[in-house]
Amino acid sequence: MSDAALLCASLRLLRGLGLLERRCAHCLTPFTPRGDEAFCPRCLPPLAPYRGAACPCCGLPLPPADRANAPSVPCGRCLSAPPPWADILFYGLYEGTLRDCLLRLKFSGELALAGPLGALLAKHLQHARPTARMPDCVLAVPQHPVHLRERGYNQAHELAAALCRELRLPLRHDLLRRTRRVSPQAGLDAAQRAANVHGSFAADARQLAGAHCWLLDDVMTTGSTARAACTALLEAGAASVTLLVMARTPSR
Ligand SMILES: [Zn+2]
Ligand SMILES: [Zn+2]
Repeated sequence: MSDAALLCASLRLLRGLGLLERRCAHCLTPFTPRGDEAFCPRCLPPLAPYRGAACPCCGLPLPPADRANAPSVPCGRCLSAPPPWADILFYGLYEGTLRDCLLRLKFSGELALAGPLGALLAKHLQHARPTARMPDCVLAVPQHPVHLRERGYNQAHELAAALCRELRLPLRHDLLRRTRRVSPQAGLDAAQRAANVHGSFAADARQLAGAHCWLLDDVMTTGSTARAACTALLEAGAASVTLLVMARTPSR
């Protein structure tokens, strides 16, 4: 028997014995992966990255009815107030399976979801930006220390850590911090959100001078938080910021 045939026979045997099974990271159903996927064949398709038309500056997707074959043009808000980041990449829309995964990661302490989600984002990034320059540092949008103590972890940081493991990049948690506690953004309109987070971040100017940064957040709604964090990085001397977001709300 050749080596390849022996390998196939061994894999068949292991599959037959159920030894190659793993549990889906979302629905926990046992399945036999074909490669390194962490989600079962039912959960993986709805977790495909968003490929429809969206604002190239802030990622705002067009309404579903207008999406097919529509060009990606800047939205009205970005035309009047361009965002501070040099590039933005978001993985998917904040709905369905992806929203469910992110809610469980954020509010139910299911940190095991961060690895598979971060891996999806890393794969999407390599596919969508194959020639992207690698950053000098990767940062997650930080929480205020009091919030961090209450929750015990920062879900954006967990996602960024997973992304950095996949792409072998340095993750920094000491370059950007929250200077004050802000009210929850939920329930506020765009102007109120911007005012709520304005000036609420401070970045380390000694270490950021000339640095190309990737800034990661789990969910983006109006982008006010990301704008405030990105502005702090640039004011501290960062050369550029690329914004990475796991999920974008379909409207704001
Ligand atoms: Zn599943
Ligand atoms: Zn926009």
